[in-house]
Amino acid sequence: MSFRFDVVIVGLGAMGSAAAFHLARRGKRVLGLDRFSPPHAFGSSHGQTRIIREAYFEHPLYVPLVQRAYELWADLEKGAGRSLFRKTGGLMIGKPDSAVVAGATRSAHEHSLTHEVFSAAEVRSRFPALQPTEEMLAVWEPRAGILFPEICIEAHLKMARKHGAELRTDEPALNWEGDGGGVRVVTSKAAYHAGQLVLTAGSWVHSLLRGLKLPLAVERQVQFWFEPKHPVQFQPERCPIHIWEHEPGRFFYGFPDLGGGVKVARHHEGERVNPDSINREVGAEEVEAMRAVVRQFLPDADGPLRSAAVCMYTNTPDGHFFIDRHPAHPQVLIASPCSGHGFKFSSVLGEVMANLLTERQTQFDLSLFRSRFH
Ligand SMILES: Cc1cc2nc3c(=O)[nH]c(=O)nc-3n(C[C@H](O)[C@H](O)[C@H](O)COP(=O)(O)OP(=O)(O)OC[C@H]3O[C@@H](n4cnc5c(N)ncnc54)[C@H](O)[C@@H]3O)c2cc1C
Repeated sequence: MSFRFDVVIVGLGAMGSAAAFHLARRGKRVLGLDRFSPPHAFGSSHGQTRIIREAYFEHPLYVPLVQRAYELWADLEKGAGRSLFRKTGGLMIGKPDSAVVAGATRSAHEHSLTHEVFSAAEVRSRFPALQPTEEMLAVWEPRAGILFPEICIEAHLKMARKHGAELRTDEPALNWEGDGGGVRVVTSKAAYHAGQLVLTAGSWVHSLLRGLKLPLAVERQVQFWFEPKHPVQFQPERCPIHIWEHEPGRFFYGFPDLGGGVKVARHHEGERVNPDSINREVGAEEVEAMRAVVRQFLPDADGPLRSAAVCMYTNTPDGHFFIDRHPAHPQVLIASPCSGHGFKFSSVLGEVMANLLTERQTQFDLSLFRSRFH
């Protein structure tokens, strides 16, 4: 049976825009659909900045992926003619046995990555914005930095279009079904037939997988921007990106001030939500709770709140990604749930998806990400 499209991609955020680009570049006939008009502020990819880092504390298996992601972000910068990345270096800060310090050290050793370990006093003297307590250490990695997510998505979409992808925005997919070895996707406007389907619908992916019962949880997360009291301390030359395990199992992270204030946020501890009814207002008590952490560890960032934005994580039970084919429909690839740390990988996951769909294989070990919730 011949289809009008080789691949339909549902969701053109971080993951879907990258998949659209890599598939279209290989000459595939791609239709991309989004319920909104990406980049937008309703999903998981807004807020101006995302951290990219190499000494990956979550697991060493992510390191080869992020190394390829760096190469692909650089290629995309050249292709699209946009600046997507700013190198700042990065600090993973916590007690010696914390997940961030022990995990980053493990990845750095296993992959022979350039890194240094600083005492709390060394951190305070080199980076005065950051005030770890005496018993903390920091793993320094020089390649870490900042991606600009909205511009990255724009760049992937621009390049996908340039290679012939047809992208339709403000057109939600309502459902899909297997159809003669391919798929039929029904949207608010039409029905489309294709050989394969990619589901990269972010926090909504659940609604397109009702039969599967994947244990995914959507989590509300707030990003805050505070006015620094001593702006010079937070300039990117003096303030790297930083991730803290300030108490066992409790994390927050921050960025230098790129002009909009000092951005900080907790990693997890958010409310479980439905993406269609999430509260996008930020309460005064939420600001005060974040401010208490800022006051302790970044005291010079404790100025007035400049802005705040609500975003969503799509979590798996073990915090790793979910990337696999649909068990009953192998022509359908699911690749969105990234447990709040997927953006940096979107360039390489776009390439991985294109490889899986065109060659049925990838050079990367995806064993952590396969179906595992039975
Ligand atoms: C506050 C916050 C901070 C983060 N910080 C980092 C970080 O520093 N570094 C990092 O690497 N990662 C970070 N992440 C995680 C990362 O941003 C996400 O993993 C990634 O952006 C998810 O991309 P996605 O493509 O799955 O989702 P999205 O980019 O949200 O894309 C999903 C798209 O699907 C569309 N869609 C949904 N349903 C339908 C439908 N039925 N039909 C058509 N379209 C549909 C949506 O409109 C949306 O455009 C952070 C996430 C948040 C929320």
